Amino acid sequence: MKTIRDFDLNNKKVIIRVDFNVPIKDGIITDDTRIKESLKTINYAIENNAKVILMSHLGRIKEESDKLKNTLKAVSIRLSELLNKQVIFVPTTRGIELETAINNLNNGDVLLMENTRFEDLPDKKESKNNEELGKYWASLGDIYINDAFGTAHRAHASNVGIASNLESGIGFLIEKELDNLLPAINNPSRPFTVILGGAKVSDKIGVIENLVKKADYILIGGGMAFTFLKAKGMEIGKSLLDDESIDFCKKILSENESKIILPIDVVTELKECFITDITKNETGLDIGSKTVKLFKQYLDNSKTIIWNGPVGMFEEDRYSNGTKGICEILKNINATKIAGGGDTASAVKNFGYEEAFTHISTGGGASLELLEGKVLPGIDIIK
Ligand code: ADP
Ligand code: MG
Repeated sequence: MKTIRDFDLNNKKVIIRVDFNVPIKDGIITDDTRIKESLKTINYAIENNAKVILMSHLGRIKEESDKLKNTLKAVSIRLSELLNKQVIFVPTTRGIELETAINNLNNGDVLLMENTRFEDLPDKKESKNNEELGKYWASLGDIYINDAFGTAHRAHASNVGIASNLESGIGFLIEKELDNLLPAINNPSRPFTVILGGAKVSDKIGVIENLVKKADYILIGGGMAFTFLKAKGMEIGKSLLDDESIDFCKKILSENESKIILPIDVVTELKECFITDITKNETGLDIGSKTVKLFKQYLDNSKTIIWNGPVGMFEEDRYSNGTKGICEILKNINATKIAGGGDTASAVKNFGYEEAFTHISTGGGASLELLEGKVLPGIDIIK
């Protein structure tokens, strides 16, 4: 696959699709991680004398009033500070003002176009990959670089649309995601152990189906463990149950008896106890300390570990010990260790265990789809 390094960027108009979908509250950016993560690709283009044209979405645009709170203006100011360089902000997504600003760019200049999803009014041109829009945006540049991993699982005009009409490559951020995730999933050093948690089985059916074929062990925690336990006929009290997934769990369990490891104890509102001691009025909200020890036995020997989904309701301190326990085990293991999923990534970061991982995938939905073995349209379109 072509990357930004494979192009001569000198004097070229380079469109870079970045992910500037940052949280903004009352006009102020509350977390600029995504802007910082895109700097490597942007700086590379600047250093190589490109005329840099940045495009990104921000939030959703369903009605006219959404435009006010989802303008990229504040992002252009923050980006300017981070690059230590003026960023030309163009408040439209097409037309003479945008075209003139692009034609006036000097080598090394950086321009940020307004939110690509402003084109979603009135008829979702960006989100439905309108052909005319993709062609038009492509006509503004000479080279297209996709570096927005978080939207790569969607075919939008600003990724698939432009890439269908212009010479394209991926940026450093997407390259790093692929280089870490794909070998771990498809060609892992063994034993390969997957830790799965999170809320519902139904959110993760695709991930389970794909990884159960590839992994040596699957350790299951979180809310989803209870549907598996129920499928084995156990009492789970008021714990999260995903009724429609019981049959799926039965099938997976019967086909993979020795691979799937379920919790042996839990933390409820009332106590920590063996799974068999949950009563009708209790809810399992975290894995217990005996389960953490059990999981450790599998993890200690593993050479590749992929973790998706917190093993308890980690947002509440008293139900966070399982998730913290897994972090602590992984910190002391020498293996390829990958965490993926929005909540998993934020748990790992909040608990201060970033360093314990080989890679933390920031893609949310895009990382999940890679774990499901799917092809991401925003990447597939790039040869
Ligand atoms: P990710 O975003 O990493 O893919 P998910 O969104 O699937 O993870 O799951 C995260 C959510 O699962 C968290 O909000 C957490 O509180 C919830 N969760 C974990 N364990 C339980 C449990 N035992 N009962 C209810 N919710 C749980
Ligand atoms: Mg989540």
